[in-house]
Amino acid sequence: MKGSDLFDLTGKVALVTGASQGLGARFAEVLAENGAAVALAARQTDKLETLKARIEASGGTAHAVALDVTDEASVAAAFDAAEGALGPLDIVINNAGVAISKGLLDVTAEEWDKVLDTNLRGAFLVAQAAGRRMAERGAGSIVNIESVLGYSVMKGVGPYCASKGGLGQLTRVLAAELARFGVRVNGIAPGYIGTDINRDFFATEAGEKLRKSIPFRRVGEPEELDGTLLLLASKAGSYMTGSTVVVDGGFLTR
Ligand code: NAD
Repeated sequence: MKGSDLFDLTGKVALVTGASQGLGARFAEVLAENGAAVALAARQTDKLETLKARIEASGGTAHAVALDVTDEASVAAAFDAAEGALGPLDIVINNAGVAISKGLLDVTAEEWDKVLDTNLRGAFLVAQAAGRRMAERGAGSIVNIESVLGYSVMKGVGPYCASKGGLGQLTRVLAAELARFGVRVNGIAPGYIGTDINRDFFATEAGEKLRKSIPFRRVGEPEELDGTLLLLASKAGSYMTGSTVVVDGGFLTR
């Protein structure tokens, strides 16, 4: 099979959480560019208008749905709305995430809950909703956006590290449980990719020091995750489940 056919998503339906900006917006765009109809999910749908217009202007199909991943009822409603508009979901990208910068001795219970509720409990609720629907149909691909900080330690972002470490385990347990239904579950663990989540940090001296410690000595661009996302979402990854692909400019080799 030709490489371009392997990654082709024509006729597929995808949903991306946290699609209003950053990596989520890029993921939605690359899925649409490769043929998928994409449900753009975010807490505020007005923030999705520009992205929706951009995808449609390049001949793609996109539909905006309201979704707060911390709210179980909102997850169910978003899946109903997405499938009502575009048809059964083949691909779900669990991308929504938050981070706070604070030492663990100073983190409040509320701050801990906010990060864990979004990055781990939210990802679980979305994957469960996706898994139930996909299992019934006997096919599907779920991609969890993890982080190198699920596999290495960074002081000052403890709740984030804990949430992403848990998400890696969630990827693997889900993969094991859903394999018999034909549903694949994989992860991407990005290193540092330039988005709003880290822009302020990389403008500081500590950020510059960290940047220089990355073997490639630079922060990645969102587009540098395109190939990995397509691999995991498409038939190119048909024998992959329970894998987390690290895309980090060598960060984890340090
Ligand atoms: P970002 O802050 O630009 O985007 C995060 C998105 O999640 C935003 O659109 C935000 O509105 C959404 N979101 C937050 N809480 C939500 C909720 N309760 N319900 C729905 N949406 C919600 O950051 P990003 O860099 O684009 O991050 C995207 C994902 O990639 C996150 O899971 C992040 O942890 C992960 N990641 C990013 C990097 C990086 O360097 N940028 C590295 C590793 C992992």
